[in-house]
Amino acid sequence: MKFATCSYKNQRFVGMISSDEKDINFFQMTPSQHAEGVLSLVRASQQSHELPPLTSPSIAITDVKLESPFPRPLRNIFCVGRNYHAHAKELSTSVFKDNDADPNSWPIVFTKVPESVVGPFDNVLLPLEVSQQIDYEAELAVVIGVGGKNISREKAMSHVYGYTIVNDVTARDVQMRHQQWDLGKSFDTFCPMGPWLITANEFDGLIAHIRCWVNGELRQDGNTQQMIFDIPTLIETCSRGITLLPGDIIATGTPAGVGMGLKPPTYLKNGDVVKIEIKGLGSIENTFIA
Ligand code: MG
Repeated sequence: MKFATCSYKNQRFVGMISSDEKDINFFQMTPSQHAEGVLSLVRASQQSHELPPLTSPSIAITDVKLESPFPRPLRNIFCVGRNYHAHAKELSTSVFKDNDADPNSWPIVFTKVPESVVGPFDNVLLPLEVSQQIDYEAELAVVIGVGGKNISREKAMSHVYGYTIVNDVTARDVQMRHQQWDLGKSFDTFCPMGPWLITANEFDGLIAHIRCWVNGELRQDGNTQQMIFDIPTLIETCSRGITLLPGDIIATGTPAGVGMGLKPPTYLKNGDVVKIEIKGLGSIENTFIA
């Protein structure tokens, strides 16, 4: 099942996408539940396995504006750095040059603030007064259903509610300037997300095919099978001593092919269009504007 958050006639609704992805039916929920986005479904699932009833008739997807399934995540998004071998190599002389620890020891984990999230087709603002090195990172994001602390690798996948796509937009100069990455990753509009959530029973995050194009040119083409730390390990790591909550989001890292890794490095400029597609999940497409 695919659950989306959208705006329709100036109101926010949460709905189920039809199997042909042409229509949406809204759930029968309170206005405050709709306002919370798909997070309200994740929360409700902790009490009951039954979904709220759907309203009819269905509405054409072209008549709504898709928003991020989580327009305002409940707290910072957990993000994983350096999680694909080829990406670790392409940035080994820049972002990762001072990080010479065994790449197989521990994952790098940082966060993006919830306010950085925008919709799957919204514009991203280039903060050119702060950064001249703005880059894209196509990623599969895991959404936690049942929360928990000290979740084991073996039980981790049973805590996954579903998946969505994230562009972990990054200001490379700011990322490196401050040692901690959160500032360079959290600018307003730096987290396009969507186009919806797909539930874990219908999608295998362990073999997901991720591609990213800039202005139609294929830049990233990877598979989550190439991860250094797989999804169960990431859930185990993030939940060590921290209670994960229903609706928490973990962005799982990006494959090779980011702009900084090109020769010469090539950063995003006014008018560039970045499209990310994960096979079987969907795609997001954002225009970057100065
Ligand atoms: Mg990233």
